[in-house]
Amino acid sequence: MDETVKLYDLDAYQEQFQGRVLSCEETLLGKQKACAVILDRTLFFPEEGGQSADSGALDGIPVLDVHIKNNVITHYLASPIEVGKSVEGSIDFEERFSKMQQHTGEHIFSGLALSHFGLHNVGFRLSSQETTMDYDGELTREQVRFLELEANRAIWRNLTVKAEYPAPEVLESLDYRSKREIQGAVRIVSIEDVDVCACCAPHVRNTGEIGLLKVLSHERYKGGIRLHIVCGKRALLDYEKKLENCLQISALLSAKPDETAEAVKKQGLLLEKEKQERVLSERRYVGMRAEQIKGGEGNLILFEEELSPVSQRELANALTKKTSGFVLVLCGNAAKGCRYILSAANRDVRPLNKELQQAFGARGGGSFEMTQGMLTADKAKLEEWFISR
Ligand SMILES: [Zn+2]
Repeated sequence: MDETVKLYDLDAYQEQFQGRVLSCEETLLGKQKACAVILDRTLFFPEEGGQSADSGALDGIPVLDVHIKNNVITHYLASPIEVGKSVEGSIDFEERFSKMQQHTGEHIFSGLALSHFGLHNVGFRLSSQETTMDYDGELTREQVRFLELEANRAIWRNLTVKAEYPAPEVLESLDYRSKREIQGAVRIVSIEDVDVCACCAPHVRNTGEIGLLKVLSHERYKGGIRLHIVCGKRALLDYEKKLENCLQISALLSAKPDETAEAVKKQGLLLEKEKQERVLSERRYVGMRAEQIKGGEGNLILFEEELSPVSQRELANALTKKTSGFVLVLCGNAAKGCRYILSAANRDVRPLNKELQQAFGARGGGSFEMTQGMLTADKAKLEEWFISR
């Protein structure tokens, strides 16, 4: 099969084209049945170099994916097309242009990462959802911010992006970035003094079209760094989404939009203080409550509406010291299900815990002097039952 004429290589801005169907064969695309269609020429950029394929249609039939092998481009369609026929093709240009923005942004960033810090781009992924770039060394947060600013300066300078196939002798003397050995003619994409790189994908004509490059996040990756970026409209949409979120938080906290983090910190401190106060007041309450109860030899049962597990335990401990009988401290709504602690001083509470399980369906266990768990019971019945044990 002859090599496919790459129309996207000649003009990245074309949205429609005509091509002749050279072959159409039934095949599988993953697990899905599809027709593999080869045209004499195409505008569809195939999945290549980490970039996902263009989407669009051939004669109105959606193109599911596009692959390239030995410079022959295969389109995968859901239904067949007649061989020999001239077809009308169209690509989703909004998506394509977005990819041109992200992709050219990557060139600028990678060119600068090399010239400023000697880092090589060793991985690139570009889909309609995200763009990641991997480098073979680490960068500090400040270095990432520096490169981001420099990349945007290159965007604002509105530099020309040139793609050409230099003659072999010119190529030999050229210093350019390349991820792998390239077979056949080498396409060199250069952005004035910022980057020179071997690349076959579509790019914008002038860097100003990228609009903005923003690094969203970065992390250590395989001994180097991985960065997540957004360019152009994706950066605008990302800004909108985050601003909306920020404005909502700002309204909820009655704080200025650029002071929300400080307001959240203050809220956190306030909550922590309240929590500490609550612990102290519970402790005072537990002491008072234990004081009120007369000790002796009988069993003691106590229903509490709201107590933290720690305070519940403290109360059970305090009561255990006041009686030679059993102590049952319940917390919550007994009829709907509540936490219980069963305890006694120097006595095995486990047989009684078993009875509690049988009589009230309690779930829980523990040690010799203390068991705990959950139970549901009628308050009066439970009280009567427990006092008579
Ligand atoms: Zn490129």
